[in-house]
Amino acid sequence: MNSNRPVHTPQRHFQAVDGCLMVGGMPLTRLAERVGSTPFFAYDRSVIKKRVAELRAALPAAIELHFSVKANPMPAVVQLMSGLVDGFDVASASELRVALDTTMPAGEISFAGPGKLDAELAQAIAAGVVLSLESPNEARRAAAIGDRLGLTPRVLLRVNPDFEMKSSGMKMGGGAKQFGVDAEAAPQLLREIGAMGLDFHGLQIFSGSQSLSAETIVDAQRNTFELAQRLAEHAPAPIALLNIGGGFGIPYFPGEAPLDLAPVSEQLAAMLPRISDALPGTRVAIELGRYLVGEAGIYVTRITDRKVSRGQVFLVTDGGMNHHLAASGNLGQVIRKNYPVAIGNRMAVDGEGAALETVSVVGPLCTPLDTLADRMPLPHADVGDLVVVFQSGAYGPSASPANFLSRQPAAEVLV
Ligand SMILES: *Cc1c(COP(=O)(O)O)cnc(C)c1O
Repeated sequence: MNSNRPVHTPQRHFQAVDGCLMVGGMPLTRLAERVGSTPFFAYDRSVIKKRVAELRAALPAAIELHFSVKANPMPAVVQLMSGLVDGFDVASASELRVALDTTMPAGEISFAGPGKLDAELAQAIAAGVVLSLESPNEARRAAAIGDRLGLTPRVLLRVNPDFEMKSSGMKMGGGAKQFGVDAEAAPQLLREIGAMGLDFHGLQIFSGSQSLSAETIVDAQRNTFELAQRLAEHAPAPIALLNIGGGFGIPYFPGEAPLDLAPVSEQLAAMLPRISDALPGTRVAIELGRYLVGEAGIYVTRITDRKVSRGQVFLVTDGGMNHHLAASGNLGQVIRKNYPVAIGNRMAVDGEGAALETVSVVGPLCTPLDTLADRMPLPHADVGDLVVVFQSGAYGPSASPANFLSRQPAAEVLV
């Protein structure tokens, strides 16, 4: 193998014992029996807890941590997170229901997303959660529904910033966007929100997602604090909550390195006293999805066939893009790259260099898009072996076309 070829960041969250990956304290082969079928997603609660604890230790204590439920809306995961974070951000009525079933207080749940239906607004207002307003129209509809219900909706204004998060995996702010209200238009709407009788709670400024660059995140956070201070002058009430977004990424592909939190933490520590001077009493929250749960999950699928086509080995598995669209490279990637993949029951035993062969791992769907690993060096594997896709705890089943080819959905377990 060419030594200059970029490799995946070592998977340090899951250990192997006697050549078998351990998940939730159990060998993967036994977990597969426990689940009863493949494919499945397994999320390791100890990895999630450790991640949150490490993040809290790294960031200033005053920073509140919100979990973005859309990253992993499995009810058991959301329940676990309710004891670990300070708030939830949901983006649909179904996510709201899952969040409200946990011990998280309604007042610490915010509901964002363009295109909220009247019925969803009514559910959220009745529940007493915070609405993240995405447009003037939505503000007026929320006020009217509040009138009808005899309740005062509590609202954040979601602002589409006047800057972009450079080199983030997904830009969600800056330029023309369907999210939030343009920063230039925000002063006007903030005044109207006061006149509409809405309970103004604060601002949400989210600029991007999946960034592995501390410098990018530091820049975005500095710009966000500046924007928030400018907008605060127009706000109808003090800013109780300033949600500065998140965007912390995780390494998925060869050559990517984990985010260095130190510069982010340093700047936050420097900014917080200035924020509390300028905006006394304002709580600052960051909202994270994949950073909290992404590395804690694996996708497990069994090899059902091994075949050779013109010299290239294909391992065919019982699951693929229908369960894990992102790992197939079809969820927003411009150039397809391999997720970290292993043969879970043939992990390298210490001191033994396993002989690798270059294979492609493909799912069962009748489309070449259904590829989990394209020409990747893996230990020799055969029918019955378990393929593991790491970094699969976020944007898995709920972000995949489960009905494509009308196959069974994947099971999900929290272990
Ligand atoms: C999707 C989303 C997030 C979570 O993004 P991650 O990359 O999973 O951290 C956070 N905030 C908002 C507004 C989102 O839409």
